[in-house]
Amino acid sequence: MAPVDVSRVAEVAERAVEDSFTRLGRYLAFAPISSDPESAPKVLALAEALSKDLTTLGLSRARVLTLPNALPCVAAEWMNAPPGAPTVLIYGHFDVQPVKNEVWSTEPHSLVRKGDRLYGRGSADDMGGWLSHIVAMEAWFAETGALPCNIKVLLEGEEEIGSPNLERFMDAFPDAFDSDAMVLTDCENPGIDIPGITVSLRGLLEVEVAVTSAESDVHSGIWGNVVPDPATTLIALLARLVDQDGRLKVARREIDAEWLEGSRDVPLTADVIRSGARLVEGVSPLPERGLTHAAWVARQPAVTVLSTTFPAPGSEKNAIRKSASAKLSLRIAPGQTSDELFDAVAAELRRDVPGGLAVALTKLPGAASSWDYVAKGPAFDAADRAYEAAWGRAPLRVGLGGSIPFVALFGRRFSQLPLVLNGVIDPETGAHGPDESMHIGVYTKTVKANVHLYAELARALAK
Ligand SMILES: [Zn+2]
Repeated sequence: MAPVDVSRVAEVAERAVEDSFTRLGRYLAFAPISSDPESAPKVLALAEALSKDLTTLGLSRARVLTLPNALPCVAAEWMNAPPGAPTVLIYGHFDVQPVKNEVWSTEPHSLVRKGDRLYGRGSADDMGGWLSHIVAMEAWFAETGALPCNIKVLLEGEEEIGSPNLERFMDAFPDAFDSDAMVLTDCENPGIDIPGITVSLRGLLEVEVAVTSAESDVHSGIWGNVVPDPATTLIALLARLVDQDGRLKVARREIDAEWLEGSRDVPLTADVIRSGARLVEGVSPLPERGLTHAAWVARQPAVTVLSTTFPAPGSEKNAIRKSASAKLSLRIAPGQTSDELFDAVAAELRRDVPGGLAVALTKLPGAASSWDYVAKGPAFDAADRAYEAAWGRAPLRVGLGGSIPFVALFGRRFSQLPLVLNGVIDPETGAHGPDESMHIGVYTKTVKANVHLYAELARALAK
């Protein structure tokens, strides 16, 4: 067989990008909102349509995977590569976030093109993500009649509600996941010209802190200054957790010097933060203090007060309340366990409490593990080459400040495999908000990078 000119396949894929927008619009119009039980038939209808389309594409065994009390997944594969070729799993999700109570400037469930961007719920998160693979595979089939490696496609229908059943799917359909490398396409690029591979996530732990002083509220005129006030004590205790900038100061992590250097390329500048976080006039982002904004967001633990039981407006009375409590969200740094962070926070809150007030700490349900990954080795060299060919530069290793349950799950279940986390999201995408959009240039370059990625992985992971 004559050697394949991969760049030519990439050009074919690039020419097919424009046509794929119609398909993207068709998928988007299903409005497959996984959090809305009434939309379950739409999620299923899209799953069935995708299964058909994957067969048309040239994949075999395209099927809708179902389990009781779960929205479906879609699986398909092409296993006809020559002996010794690796099998690459492509993961994406076809469900979307709700649009209720959001003000859109376009119809959220139709694809609308404006300038360089395609607007619509699910355009970048994550329909454009997996479509970028479908277009890449189509180009391979059109140009060579084959793919350079075996490929399995696994599309989830419940990512936007936290992948509650994905592990059950892994257990029930192990063959749909069995592979030598995984490309998980639902992540962000730091800029429209700077591709990213996600290598870490922060975890999440919610904790309730309750401070109690007495069996009942007491008169603040009679007892003020002699009886400890749980409200001010709680405020003082919470203040112990943070530094002069208001950042969590316990359980901080050492930042790897090489990672820190790379993070200087992440365009998370003061201006980007000002506009992205909608800061009001005169407010500045917190000082970097020797790190980078990206390092603070991606690599350090953090605390946020979610709610308190301080008396609400309208319930004022001249009394010292018997107790006060707050719910905190703790972001767990990559590589840190929830116990490590909880123990450090608890020790700080329980140390020398004024008046000997009882401090009760309760972990709330719904914790998510952090994930920390070293994206090195042949598969990542392959990804670097693929991105260099398509984007003109290797992807930055980026961390996410949030938690993505499916990533932590893949990280736990398939820690021995190369996990390449890419995607078509960029900082302007506005995923999970109004006017979600995908940048056409990012999508096109990702399609081309996928074309190269299959060939590069085939070479790098040949058995
Ligand atoms: Zn997503």
